[in-house]
Amino acid sequence: MPADDDRPLVIVVGAGITGLATAWHLQRSGAVRVVVVEGSDRVGGKLSTASIAGVEVDSGADCFLARVPWMTALCLDVGINDLTSPATGTAYVWSGHRLRRLPEGLVLGVPTSATALARSRLLSPGASLRAAMDLVTRAAAVDGPDPSVGAVVADRLGRRALQQVVEPLLGGIHAGMADRLSLREVAPLVADAAAGHRSLIRGLRAQRKATTPAGGPVFLAPVGGMGRLVDRLHEHLLADGAEIRTGTVVEKLTPAAGGRTSVFPTGLFADHVVLTTPAFAAAQLVRPHTTGSADALDGIAYASLAMVLLAYPTGDAPLPAGSGFLVPRTAGRLLTAASFLTNKWPGTGPPGHVVVRCSIGHIADDRGVTMADAALVDGAHAELVEALHLRSGVRPADAVVVRWPRAFPQYEPGHRTRVERARNFLHAELPDVSLAGAAYDGLGLAACARQGEEAATQTLQKLGLEEGNRE
Ligand SMILES: Cc1cc2nc3c(=O)[nH]c(=O)nc-3n(C[C@H](O)[C@H](O)[C@H](O)COP(=O)(O)OP(=O)(O)OC[C@H]3O[C@@H](n4cnc5c(N)ncnc54)[C@H](O)[C@@H]3O)c2cc1C
Repeated sequence: MPADDDRPLVIVVGAGITGLATAWHLQRSGAVRVVVVEGSDRVGGKLSTASIAGVEVDSGADCFLARVPWMTALCLDVGINDLTSPATGTAYVWSGHRLRRLPEGLVLGVPTSATALARSRLLSPGASLRAAMDLVTRAAAVDGPDPSVGAVVADRLGRRALQQVVEPLLGGIHAGMADRLSLREVAPLVADAAAGHRSLIRGLRAQRKATTPAGGPVFLAPVGGMGRLVDRLHEHLLADGAEIRTGTVVEKLTPAAGGRTSVFPTGLFADHVVLTTPAFAAAQLVRPHTTGSADALDGIAYASLAMVLLAYPTGDAPLPAGSGFLVPRTAGRLLTAASFLTNKWPGTGPPGHVVVRCSIGHIADDRGVTMADAALVDGAHAELVEALHLRSGVRPADAVVVRWPRAFPQYEPGHRTRVERARNFLHAELPDVSLAGAAYDGLGLAACARQGEEAATQTLQKLGLEEGNRE
């Protein structure tokens, strides 16, 4: 960045996908100087890889939603054209000592066919009948403007359908509990169907008919894994003149003269700061200037988990065809899910081996961060032996534990109000700082990439530099 560059300076705090996408769109505008400040020694945040039996595999997010444009566009922008989709979408639930296939036609875990649900045999005949009652009985009114997934689904389909099918899938995405997740926030289509129809199943079916099927894959990833996108974004940002400072934890923001903000310890004064850190880290930075915003940010709870990656010689661990299995919380297991990485992404992982990624922990279970590595590996392996009927004496050829402390923001009932409160106070009391990222408007990669683009547009508007307004 030349010393005589007098364009406004925007500092992006955090180099996860949101921060990188924000920086990418700002840099592309050519209207501002961009500095990304990242506390850890690497960029990517929750996009990361781990080495198992000598081969790098994704240890965080491994694919993104393809039916919205933001991540695909970002990949294409940095020259990644070889996007691929998971080789299999079949998933199982570990139920009653066996793996049973999830029924066809789920919308975010919620069934659209009572017959398919009954045929899956995930529920007892009585619980299947209870779910089918949704087609004929009038639902009781669920209290409040922002009911939980649990309240609505249990009311419409019964508690067992919630516990066996909906919570493992929807709760798994968020590492949350169905009774503590806002239906409107985590499954807006299901919320619309529930609000507009007497029967949830019929409502979801009507929605399907009304919308043209998008076609194409649901999920995508760069061939070789998500790490490639992080590397490319990093390279392109540097080549285009952005500065990226890793290993620099931002500790303090101080408003200074001329509408600038001092960002300690960088020694820089920014015309605008975009905070893309987790909400609790943003809360610490804004608290000296706005307790209202900081309190709202601290009100966003986070779940912690561990990913235990286990590699087995292929002959020792014949995996069923499919992407993996989910485990209902009611089963009282250590695992919440197991993903068959080498089935999903053939050609990845160490040759001659299968790799299974086991998830441990959720908002009401912190064993993923409290148990010792060896205990996590032994526990995950023992449950795989049971679920997959592995021979006794089989041991993993390699095992890696990746901890994800306070990694999954919880979209609890009241989330939207909390986020609006955080932003409104910030706007009033620290107007040169804004918020974007997984804690606010969607935690999936695509939602984070969208937020990055929006944060860049809003920053340019705020600085009076939006398209058509530049000299
Ligand atoms: C194990 C796991 C699997 C997932 N799988 C998927 C998936 O398959 N598909 C999908 O769409 N989503 C998935 N997600 C969700 C998705 O990956 C995340 O929500 C998303 O990557 C978060 O991006 P972010 O940029 O908002 O935040 P982060 O990635 O958390 O980035 C924030 C950055 O801010 C930095 N930071 C914090 N405080 C400071 C400070 N004071 N100063 C400087 N830097 C700071 C952090 O070090 C971090 O790098 C998964 C998440 C996890 C944890």
